[in-house]
Amino acid sequence: MRFCSDDLHAEELGSVVDKSSFLSYLIDQCKKSKNINIVDEADAYIDNVTSPIKLSQSQSKLTITGDYLIVTDGANSQFAKNLNMERHSFDYDQTSYMFNTNYQHLSKGAFQIFSRKGIFAILPFNDNSVSIVASIYNEFIDDFAFESENANFDMLEMELAPYLRGIDKPKLIYKYPLNTSRLVAWSKQNVIFLGNSSQLIHPFGAQGFNFAADCIQVISDKSEDLLLDGEFNPEILNIINKKRNALLKRIDFTSSALMRNSFSANVCSSVFSRTINLSSTLRRSFLKKIVGMN
Ligand SMILES: Cc1cc2nc3c(=O)[nH]c(=O)nc-3n(C[C@H](O)[C@H](O)[C@H](O)COP(=O)(O)OP(=O)(O)OC[C@H]3O[C@@H](n4cnc5c(N)ncnc54)[C@H](O)[C@@H]3O)c2cc1C
Repeated sequence: MRFCSDDLHAEELGSVVDKSSFLSYLIDQCKKSKNINIVDEADAYIDNVTSPIKLSQSQSKLTITGDYLIVTDGANSQFAKNLNMERHSFDYDQTSYMFNTNYQHLSKGAFQIFSRKGIFAILPFNDNSVSIVASIYNEFIDDFAFESENANFDMLEMELAPYLRGIDKPKLIYKYPLNTSRLVAWSKQNVIFLGNSSQLIHPFGAQGFNFAADCIQVISDKSEDLLLDGEFNPEILNIINKKRNALLKRIDFTSSALMRNSFSANVCSSVFSRTINLSSTLRRSFLKKIVGMN
């Protein structure tokens, strides 16, 4: 399937954001704000969930209190463990590797390839380089051997053909086991979990960060009515819950249709793409869903 911004009569389909520069920018902004205290490298734990919240640091006697707490300590959240939050495991049996590499001839497009060995995304980074996200099925990890001196980049290039040819030795930025988990309920009284601490979504959907930003928008829109009787306002929880359920359903449906390397999955994805290519209305509504437009 091929989509372009003309399909939505828009100038672009989205933006590629360099996460580390964006985070540095946000931290700088927080440092400049008189209303924000940064306590970094905190090994914090919650005394108990009562109103108001009391956070203590194990390394020092510092105690932070507040009316509510928004937890974003990432996947395998320590706070979720401390509060005994129930979770479901989702093991995709894959590991994501992210690379940057010099490459000058990529158009401004992004590509995603579903193959027997994994899911591969090619993202334009700047005029001279691209980022590659390779989510490899664990049974093929030794064949690619990305972390060894004999990394098999020829094999990677075969998977990326015909979209990327003749890449320089890619630089491994990080790897991420896709042994993920989702909280069953992502809130408890006056504590809520956002982003990876609530659910780690497979990168093929490119939705994890976007969804976290969406939740923050909901919270800031209702900042005046955030609490009701010392707990998070059920209205806000409902809005986020609906969005979260819809997103997870979509991700699970698409991953079960496209990811499995079986005859039925291949037939299913082929029928799916043909149908979508036949109807421009269906095409547009599918695309709107992917890029998160209402
Ligand atoms: C390969 C890959 C590609 C992706 N591509 C996309 C995409 O295209 N679009 C998209 O929307 N999303 C994408 N995502 C998802 C996106 O990266 C995540 O959704 C996002 O990073 C979640 O942010 P977070 O802040 O919840 O968690 P994290 O990014 O994991 O950040 C949590 C942070 O909290 C810190 N921390 C933990 N405990 C403490 C503590 N006690 N004190 C202080 N700090 C602490 C951690 O060190 C970490 O820096 C991708 C993810 C992967 C793995």
